[in-house]
Amino acid sequence: MMDFIAGFFAPWIVYALILVLNVALPARKVVGYVRDDLTNRPLEYRLNGPLVLSVLVLLWAAVGRTGVLGWDWLYVHRWPSLAGSCVLGLLFSFVMVLSARGTGRTFLADLYFGRSQNRQFFNARVDAKMFLYLVGATMLALNLLSFLAHHILTFGSSASPGVLLYCFLFFWFVVDYLVFENVHLYTYDIFAERVGFKLCWGCFTFYPYFYAVGLWVAADLPDPRTPSWLLVVFAMVFFVGWTLSRGANMQKYFFKTEPERALLGFMKPVSLSDGKNALLDSGFWALSRHVNYLGEILMAAGLTLALGRPGLWAAWLYPLYYVALLVPRERADERRCAEKYGALWTEYVRRVPRRIIPWVY
Ligand code: NDP
Repeated sequence: MMDFIAGFFAPWIVYALILVLNVALPARKVVGYVRDDLTNRPLEYRLNGPLVLSVLVLLWAAVGRTGVLGWDWLYVHRWPSLAGSCVLGLLFSFVMVLSARGTGRTFLADLYFGRSQNRQFFNARVDAKMFLYLVGATMLALNLLSFLAHHILTFGSSASPGVLLYCFLFFWFVVDYLVFENVHLYTYDIFAERVGFKLCWGCFTFYPYFYAVGLWVAADLPDPRTPSWLLVVFAMVFFVGWTLSRGANMQKYFFKTEPERALLGFMKPVSLSDGKNALLDSGFWALSRHVNYLGEILMAAGLTLALGRPGLWAAWLYPLYYVALLVPRERADERRCAEKYGALWTEYVRRVPRRIIPWVY
């Protein structure tokens, strides 16, 4: 029973610690993309994700090294920890929704989608959405480390290189997100979503626990002896995806912040304009209208393949989730852009006819 209680409250303690570190540690100050409802000025953010992650990873290492808790404590307590994060995610959703003004929809719709769009606390030191993503990314990293530790403690020198590769690539994914936190300020979640159950529970529970589903089911399994050359191919699938996703996101970020700046010094932006608005029509944004979504799906597929167990259906839930999330999101974003940009968007669609996969879809 004591073990269950400890596991249940572990994410509560970790999330509280993340909040304290987010408030207290030095941060870069960044002007965002969305505007404050009251002043109509762009919101300002304090971002310190890489620092918060580093402190927590060091803490995890110190706790493991000194034997206070086992290296794989989070793996051993993964079910109660998942339950604790679920309850906390639900409670936090209620707090965020009940403390904001209704949107005029039903309470259940407000609870799920949220009421307020962008809220900041502690004298604007913490932004609700960026804090939620920080929690998701950091807890996912801690889970991955602990799950990896369990695999190594179980199999020692016969540990699967695929599992090591999976963790390395996933860490790349997490660190990449935190290093480019400022770029994320220009994404759909920030300018179109509200803070409700979808986002709160999504970041407290779904992101740190479900994203690791591949290791959740493979940490206890022996090395499937995937040939090294195949692991290299799987890592390449991941990095092709990363290039598409990071490249497209950076190109759009520069276009919005420094419209003349060339990506990587040579990819000069070419855009379509109607005199009022402009859309990128070159580089990644000429391949398809959401090639970054293809990139995200390829990264997820590369991660799953790296485990070397293509028959393990549960590990495929992760890339499938991206397909289920991003295909409808592309449709929703398309409607938003058609409304916002009008004839300019129609021209862009004529020039770049594919939605996600170049030449195919
Ligand atoms: P996008 O980055 O594609 O943003 C869409 C917005 O970009 C549009 O609404 C429009 O906004 C602007 N835009 C669209 N076309 C153009 C163009 N040609 N030129 C200039 N601006 C354009 O989508 P998301 O925000 O959904 O995704 C951002 C990233 O986050 C992606 O890489 C995605 O895969 C990733 N992601 C990751 C998730 C994860 O769990 N790892 C979950 C969801 C997304 P505007 O009105 O500002 O012009």
